[in-house]
Amino acid sequence: MVIRCPYPTINIPELDVLTYLFGDGEDLSEEPLWVNAADSSKYLSARTGLQWIKRLAIGLDKLGVKKGEVVMIVTPNTIFVPIAYLGVVGSGRIFTGVNPLYTADEIAYQMKDTGARVALVHPSLLETARKGAKKAGLPESCLYLFSDTEHKSIDGIKDWRSMLGTPSEASSYTWPHLEGEAAKSQVATVNYSSGTTGLPKGVMITHGNLIANVEQVSFLHQVEQPGIKPDVEDRWIGFLPLYHAYGQLNVCLIAAKVLIPVYIMSKFVYEDFLSTIQTHKITELHVAPPILVLMNKHPLTPKYDISSVTKIGSGAAPLSRSLQNDCRDKFNTNIGQGWGMTELTCAGCSVPGGLKDETGSIGCLLPNSEAKLLDENGNEVATGERGEIYFRGPNVSPGYWKNEKATRETMLEGGWLRTGDIGVTDERSWFWIVDRLKELIKVSGLQVAPAELEALLLTHPSIADAGVVAVSDSFDGQERPRAYVVPKSLDKDNPGVSEEEIVEWMKGKVARYKWLTGGVGFVNEVPKSAAGKIQRKVMREWAKRDGKGG
Ligand code: AMP
Repeated sequence: MVIRCPYPTINIPELDVLTYLFGDGEDLSEEPLWVNAADSSKYLSARTGLQWIKRLAIGLDKLGVKKGEVVMIVTPNTIFVPIAYLGVVGSGRIFTGVNPLYTADEIAYQMKDTGARVALVHPSLLETARKGAKKAGLPESCLYLFSDTEHKSIDGIKDWRSMLGTPSEASSYTWPHLEGEAAKSQVATVNYSSGTTGLPKGVMITHGNLIANVEQVSFLHQVEQPGIKPDVEDRWIGFLPLYHAYGQLNVCLIAAKVLIPVYIMSKFVYEDFLSTIQTHKITELHVAPPILVLMNKHPLTPKYDISSVTKIGSGAAPLSRSLQNDCRDKFNTNIGQGWGMTELTCAGCSVPGGLKDETGSIGCLLPNSEAKLLDENGNEVATGERGEIYFRGPNVSPGYWKNEKATRETMLEGGWLRTGDIGVTDERSWFWIVDRLKELIKVSGLQVAPAELEALLLTHPSIADAGVVAVSDSFDGQERPRAYVVPKSLDKDNPGVSEEEIVEWMKGKVARYKWLTGGVGFVNEVPKSAAGKIQRKVMREWAKRDGKGG
């Protein structure tokens, strides 16, 4: 049985993103839109924002960056990240962002894989980005310093302002307009996800996907409270990373579409988060479960008045029912869960705004989308039974960037996307995520691909084979990567390397959230199927045996 969104089909404009957000670009709001949370006198409005967007578009034209080429950002959040995002996308290029915690190797992987032509780099990350660029073969002349204040050039690397068009050039610039199929198919962004298996892969998201997901999410937000429209009374806080789909959809797109001021934090410091909510009377939060864990338990929480918050949306990782209900009671606010994937642009299901949920549900499908739940044999399961979710809708990515094999395995015939998540539904067509079939580990809502850590472990001189699994005390989103390694030494009592050494070694290789915080176990063999596929179920059992949850 194909499950559908319980609400009517909606109309989705077939336009390019800039026309969708800013119309003809005339008579735009002067009110703060993207605001520096640390100093709210620094902000961009829709009008000034669009001028910067056009100046960047002209700058990229002058640099000879062709339509369809990739521009990368290597930066923490600033009020100029939405400018980079929309300037790149709106001028017909492709945006990709990396986690600011990435090591040079991780940056190099994404630079090389996307074939990035230009990288906008925050001065604090310049050294790492330069090393990454060198490894990826991107000339230093293609790097620009990128922050909210102007910088002198460093070792010949110039500030991005030096390459922008002038304000007067911007006033006569028109961006490439798209309609119909061209809008639906032109790639706008490439965010990275490991999908159901293997290494991180670039997920192509089109202008059509982005607009569809903004419309779908906005519709579900309002459908049960028709009088309520987001307006100037709403204020958001932007701490979710803007290299990830969750931050991009809310901060760069929905906020700009409905003109909600977003107070952008460049670094998540819990006390700054609370004080920004208190000072600017933030009305709605978009969080991942670890933020709710902090809000629920941290001794600083009661020291701040966060009563302005009336709605909290949680996504990116499983939220336990008890945490959801504890927070709802403590903060006297409605907490609705959403579920999504980079491959779905961002969101796939959500609890409709205005409806209450106490059951840990992810709500219903977004409008214009449908799903089916299949068992291991590919048969549809009955209502109430577990099955892997297959999803179809206008927000589904057309495929992985330059990776036809992975595309064929995940974006299936008939437009169905294989999600790797196990869910159940009820008679109302509401969903619950009950398990994850795919290899992915989620740490603080961020993706950790076991295959990436396994490949690295195999480069360790004392390790012959390795497998990585998620361990957690309960299914509440607090996952940690744990490795099982086969030492090269045959001497059981003396593997030639210690658990601590491996954990420390990994710290030098990958961003902090990928560290082996679940520890390392030594084994004789990594369990594999006849086809050589790692049997993670067995390792999860080992983790339980080793007292690591699992
Ligand atoms: P990403 O592509 O980084 O957004 O990660 C997508 C994956 O995160 C999904 O396929 C799920 O495994 C997990 N995820 C996202 N939202 C939820 C949720 N509300 N509950 C459980 N898992 C979730």
